[in-house]
Amino acid sequence: MTYDRLVCANCAAPVSEGRCPVCRANRERLQQQGPLGGLSPTALLTLLVVLIAAMALLAAYRTA
Ligand SMILES: [Zn+2]
Repeated sequence: MTYDRLVCANCAAPVSEGRCPVCRANRERLQQQGPLGGLSPTALLTLLVVLIAAMALLAAYRTA
């Protein structure tokens, strides 16, 4: 997700320049989302591991 062309509604300058508090808040929020729009590769990997662990636990409970 790119915010390079995003224009601030408060100061009408590019958000990436961070000229006003609204710009800076938006810029920080967008940067926290990462390149995959909310999910970084690390977060995806963690999610996958948790999912596999949950399924393994579920299988263990069913067979026990
Ligand atoms: Zn602004």
